[in-house]
Amino acid sequence: MSNLEREPRETECGGPTGRAGAAAGPAGELLTGREVVLGGPRGMRVTRTLPGRDVRMVGAWCFLDHYGPERTAMRVPAHPHTGLQTVSWLVEGEVLHRDCLGSEQVIRPGSLNLMTAGRGISHSEESPAGRDLHGVQLWVALPAAHRGTEPSFEHHPVLPKLTGPGFTAKVLMGELGGVVSPARVHSPLTGAEITLEEGAQVTVPLRPDFEHAVLSLSGAVRACGTDLAPGPLLYLGTGRSELTLSAGAPARLMLLGGEPFEERIVMWWNFVGRDHDEIVRFRQEWMTGEAFGVVPGAPGTRLPAPDLPGTPLKPRGRHR
Ligand code: MN
Repeated sequence: MSNLEREPRETECGGPTGRAGAAAGPAGELLTGREVVLGGPRGMRVTRTLPGRDVRMVGAWCFLDHYGPERTAMRVPAHPHTGLQTVSWLVEGEVLHRDCLGSEQVIRPGSLNLMTAGRGISHSEESPAGRDLHGVQLWVALPAAHRGTEPSFEHHPVLPKLTGPGFTAKVLMGELGGVVSPARVHSPLTGAEITLEEGAQVTVPLRPDFEHAVLSLSGAVRACGTDLAPGPLLYLGTGRSELTLSAGAPARLMLLGGEPFEERIVMWWNFVGRDHDEIVRFRQEWMTGEAFGVVPGAPGTRLPAPDLPGTPLKPRGRHR
């Protein structure tokens, strides 16, 4: 998906500076995020919890939109990305992805679409009208050594599972409890959808060197002592070796984690870069040329980039 805001906020992330000690140990902080309407007043409503005001990243995870369940149609014309991977995950409905590499792939619940933008890619996304849609759109920031990589697209219809009494964790990205996703990642990471059975009392192993966060996709749970329902992102910090979960009724969660991302990045519109001049160049390349390729069959006309803010973009810490 695209950041369709016409006045995207400058978002600077990464780096160990910022809110002292934010990721230096366990936390249990509910991050409410904000409601964003994509594509104008009749657009799709999402809850954006990353980047947040205080916590901008969880590991390399730098963007999290949760949408639905709602009867809506996603229609995102061709737009560019740089320096990131997009991770598309559905609970309900279907979305057709097209990109400038010629990929054309319908994603349905339980399978993963992973697009690695690297040095630059463009894509479009659309869903059929009159259907319920529910899912998340995530971005993973690429570390310096890989951010200029060639663009690529992967579809994974089958993902490995970590299971235990009362729960199943489907591992989308990285590793959880020794179960490793086939998706290509470029930094130590975890991304898993956890389904809980009615009355579940569950302990999921975590890596204490990772920071973690949990989002409820459906249902109410208690996670590491905090009540969590769909909406906010529960930031758990680092230093936890397990995630304790309990649920009275069936629930579905998204677990995100990763090694704290020590590089400073600048996120603006659909680009991840390292400084102001680079973002200016990405924008210019999208607006004036075909450096990002052409998406065959994309709906509508390619999205124009918004105007840059009047003040230079500059990196800050990944936490406030
Ligand atoms: Mn996109």
